[in-house]
Amino acid sequence: MHTPDQSEVLIVGAGPVGLALALTLADSGLTVTVVDARPTGSVASDPRTLALAHGSRITLERLGVWDALPTTPIERIHVSRQGCFGRTVLDAHDQGVPALGYVTPAGALGAALLEALERTSTRLLAATEVVSRTAMPEHVEVLLRTSGSADLRRHSSRLVACAEGGLDAGDPGIVERDYGQHALIADVTVRSGHRNRAYERFLPGGPLALLPHGQGHALVHAAAATQADELLGLDDDAYLDHLQRALGARVELTAIGPRTRFPLRLRYRRSPVAPRTVWLGNAAQTLHPVAGQGFNLALRDVQELARQLGDTPPDPGARTLLDTYAARRHLDRSATIRFTDGLLRLYGSPPALLDPLRSLGLVTLDALPPLRGFLSRRMMFGARAWP
Ligand SMILES: Cc1cc2nc3c(=O)[nH]c(=O)nc-3n(C[C@H](O)[C@H](O)[C@H](O)COP(=O)(O)OP(=O)(O)OC[C@H]3O[C@@H](n4cnc5c(N)ncnc54)[C@H](O)[C@@H]3O)c2cc1C
Repeated sequence: MHTPDQSEVLIVGAGPVGLALALTLADSGLTVTVVDARPTGSVASDPRTLALAHGSRITLERLGVWDALPTTPIERIHVSRQGCFGRTVLDAHDQGVPALGYVTPAGALGAALLEALERTSTRLLAATEVVSRTAMPEHVEVLLRTSGSADLRRHSSRLVACAEGGLDAGDPGIVERDYGQHALIADVTVRSGHRNRAYERFLPGGPLALLPHGQGHALVHAAAATQADELLGLDDDAYLDHLQRALGARVELTAIGPRTRFPLRLRYRRSPVAPRTVWLGNAAQTLHPVAGQGFNLALRDVQELARQLGDTPPDPGARTLLDTYAARRHLDRSATIRFTDGLLRLYGSPPALLDPLRSLGLVTLDALPPLRGFLSRRMMFGARAWP
């Protein structure tokens, strides 16, 4: 094995979160290396569509990638529950903002971040997998393997930021709740056009969201895992018919594109930091997409980490720095996890006993503008309404 390669910060994973961190740190003066197991550019093929909060827009503008993104503003969100009275509407106009959020393809976001990073001097190693990490008192020893080679290379880093996109089950430091749901995603078109409206409809099997996207809507349809099998087996007309019955008369669906499936569960680390290590994005917490919070929360984490790294040289892996980061992110992180999980517990589960309460919740929300304002700001900025 060769002598170890070195950097002050090693970022594991060049998904949107790892790339956003690398770009945020590009002018920090720190030496940063990014490694990803996949070939370069794979991030552009992510089929998901993301709802970005207003706060994320501000951050992406600062990073210089916003203008490169195809985005569709969300001006209204219509929230309802199948088979129950009560509904509420969140409106950008009421909140005094141009949009409650923006819809963009995750692949386009990844491509824009990558392109911007390639214009900096940050080192990016594609097709390179992190095989192991061992935290020492002064550094982390990392073993890397390049795709197609059996050789292992050593890399030494003061801090490892893990943005590898997932958490392994079974670790005692991880909390897990399996919703038993899968998300089907697809592009759909509706007869009237989207008019910048999003729909969130709670069905007995899971929530269904339609996000305005390009000329049509992006569908995120959560369903029980067994039902997802059946739904994937339907031809387009039969599936459209199923969706139309679930949505009622509020939109008229006309066509659907190819469907892709994602298993859904909540998994999060009790602590996002460990000696000389920080976890970010889906590697820190994997959330149900019901409230579209995963990437938005990750971007707020990235900003705080970069602030701490900028404020406290010379050791980027210092325990005090990581503890301060975790403490400063605790409120937003735990509130976002609870908010997402709470929505599913309240609206996503069957017990009929709760139905009047759940309908009352939507009616109350509709009747109380300050509560709607709170919910809208939460979706836009996170727990601290931080822009
Ligand atoms: C259906 C669905 C809809 C969603 N909608 C929204 C939304 O509307 N709004 C929102 O904010 N969020 C949403 N999310 C969440 C959002 O997609 C995630 O938060 C985000 O994509 C996570 O990005 P990431 O960079 O953490 O992970 P990933 O995109 O998974 O990237 C991880 C990277 O790490 C690399 N990697 C893994 N292991 C290694 C290793 N050992 N060595 C080197 N590299 C490695 C992988 O190759 C990959 O490139 C949604 C999620 C789903 C499933």
